Amino acid sequence: AEPSPFLEHKPTTTPGVLAIALLSRDNYQPVTLEQSAGAVDGYAEGVVLNTRFGSFPHSTLLNIPWGSQVPVAASSGFIHILRPTPELWTSSLPHRTQVVYTPDYSYILHRIRARPGTRIIEAGAGSGSFTHASARAVYNGYPTGPADQRGKVFSFEFHEPRYEKMKEEIKGHGLEGVVQITHRDVYQDGFLVDGQSPQATAVFLDVPAPWEALPHLSRRRIKKEGANAGSDDDWKSPLDPEQSVYICTFSPCIEQVTRTVEEMRNLGWTDVDMVEISHKRYNVVRERVGINLPNERGFNQSPADVSEAILRLRDINKRASDYQKSQIQANGQDTGTEMDIDVPPGKAPDGAIGNVYDDEKPWTNGRICHRVEGDIKTHTSYLVFAILPREWDEEAEAAAMAKWPC
Ligand code: SAM
Repeated sequence: AEPSPFLEHKPTTTPGVLAIALLSRDNYQPVTLEQSAGAVDGYAEGVVLNTRFGSFPHSTLLNIPWGSQVPVAASSGFIHILRPTPELWTSSLPHRTQVVYTPDYSYILHRIRARPGTRIIEAGAGSGSFTHASARAVYNGYPTGPADQRGKVFSFEFHEPRYEKMKEEIKGHGLEGVVQITHRDVYQDGFLVDGQSPQATAVFLDVPAPWEALPHLSRRRIKKEGANAGSDDDWKSPLDPEQSVYICTFSPCIEQVTRTVEEMRNLGWTDVDMVEISHKRYNVVRERVGINLPNERGFNQSPADVSEAILRLRDINKRASDYQKSQIQANGQDTGTEMDIDVPPGKAPDGAIGNVYDDEKPWTNGRICHRVEGDIKTHTSYLVFAILPREWDEEAEAAAMAKWPC
């Protein structure tokens, strides 16, 4: 099977692989590229990607370097074909639920110590936004040693259609070896997979009542009434018994946080704290492309006064008049396209060199400023973090002493 494009970088697009078409700023369309022999759906070119900017036969998108610009036939437009990343997938995935966005999941993955080789439990899978980000974080190839040395995401989802869709996506995105999804109500039935412990050291809960799932995330069976009651005879912990476990729960309401924290304290979690990510994007731009004037600070400063406007209008008039002349020359007649803007009386600044835009160094035109863009989409939630230390008893002490005698 092809390695997942989310995990391993091949230089070019290949058939059967997910690509993200960038249509315009922040406008993405995911597409699985297909090689077709002959006409498909009435298109002689085979499978076609239809966008609102034009149609692209997949054959024109295959076997080209990732990031390529592809022109729209019969127009001056173009799109870009991008290699999928969790960030691009989050921006383009079909929403089946609320999703966790990049500003939150990058911080969460850092706090729960997700790194190559980590075994992480996630519930619920929802639309798979967090799943993709965590798969990349824990991927450590396919080590030849014991299976439990492989970084893995154990994902749980109780809503059947969402579970089925996720299974299909994980397969389609080549993530089957890294993500294992289970159809399960985790409040009721916990986190074992095929009766085995995932041996997790990191947990992320994005479910409405994390406190209902917490009793299943302890080192020993916690006797509870009702839904979480059960025999502890054959109970296994889904956690790695020899390492501390880091958890994050994601809840939109403070009441959910209060109940979660209370339960964490009952169950021996430590270092409990809550964070809210308040993400803002500052867009650094050149404010206006102005006219280059020499002054004490050098060229390429944009004066924001009337003299600049005068120069600009003169420039527009000159271009219009040049165009007019060229038309008369070419057609022998006045095309009536004359543009004549009244230039107000005024004096252009001395020494103005009059070039409106420096093509050679476009990055030097205009004046740098920043604007705060409207908050990017983010499902504002409270993040509760906590740590469950590994258990330590006389047996563990003796084993440690045997390993590292003083
Ligand atoms: N984190 C996901 C993402 O980034 O795409 C979104 C998760 S969505 C907000 C919550 C999901 O939890 C829903 O799909 C829901 O079906 C699932 N869920 C709720 N309660 C559950 C339970 N007891 N067991 C398993 N899944 C559950």
